[in-house]
Amino acid sequence: MNLILFGPPAAGKGTQAKRLVSEKGMVQLSTGDMLRAAIASGSELGKRVEGILQRGDLVSDEIVIALIEDRLPEAERAGGAIFDGFPRTIAQAKALDEMLEKRGSRVDLVIRLKVDDAALMERIAGRFAESGRPDDNPESFKVRLAAYNEQTAPLLPYYESHEKLVEVDGMGTVEQVAQAIDQALAASRA
Ligand code: AMP
Repeated sequence: MNLILFGPPAAGKGTQAKRLVSEKGMVQLSTGDMLRAAIASGSELGKRVEGILQRGDLVSDEIVIALIEDRLPEAERAGGAIFDGFPRTIAQAKALDEMLEKRGSRVDLVIRLKVDDAALMERIAGRFAESGRPDDNPESFKVRLAAYNEQTAPLLPYYESHEKLVEVDGMGTVEQVAQAIDQALAASRA
C-alpha cells in the first residue's frame, strides 16, 4: 500500500503519518524530515537547501525526487510507504508514478486532509512558539501557504482524475482525524 498524505502546511500530515508508522508498521517518507536531517548533518545538500527551507520556498524537483528514489527499496520491503510532503508539484507526482511503475508498484490512495485557512493560521500560531522550526514564523508560513496554493493544490485534480483521491475532514481532534483516515484506508482495501 502506497499512501500519499496530502494537505497544506500544518494540516497534521506529519502527526498522522507518525501514528500510522507506530500503529501499522508503515514507513514514512517525509521529504521535509530528510531535508532537515541533511541541514542538521551539515552536508553539501544541507547547505544548498537551508536558505530555501528557511524562506518557505520549495526546493527543486530534482533534489526531492532523488531523495525519494533512494528510499523506495526500504519502503517496498516494509510493504509500502506513507508519502508525507511529497509530491508537491505536478512534475514530482509524475516522477513518483514513473518510479513506482518501474518497480511494479503504484500510488494506491491519496488522502487529502481538508483544513480551512483560519484553523490553519490558529494551529500554526500555536506551533510558532514551541516548534523550533526556523520556517514556523509568520513570514515563512505565508510563503509556504502560497507555495501550497500555487504549486501543490493543482495536484488535486491530477489525483482526482486517477480516481485515487479521498477527502478527510482535518479539522477534528487528532483521534477523530485518525479514525477518518483508518476508515478511508479500510475502504480502499475492501
Ligand atoms: P515539510 O516538513 O513537509 O513542511 O517541508 C518543509 C520544507 O521542506 C518545505 O517548506 C520546502 O522548503 C521543503 N520541501 C519538503 N518537501 C518538499 C517537496 N516535495 N518539494 C519541494 N520542497 C520540499
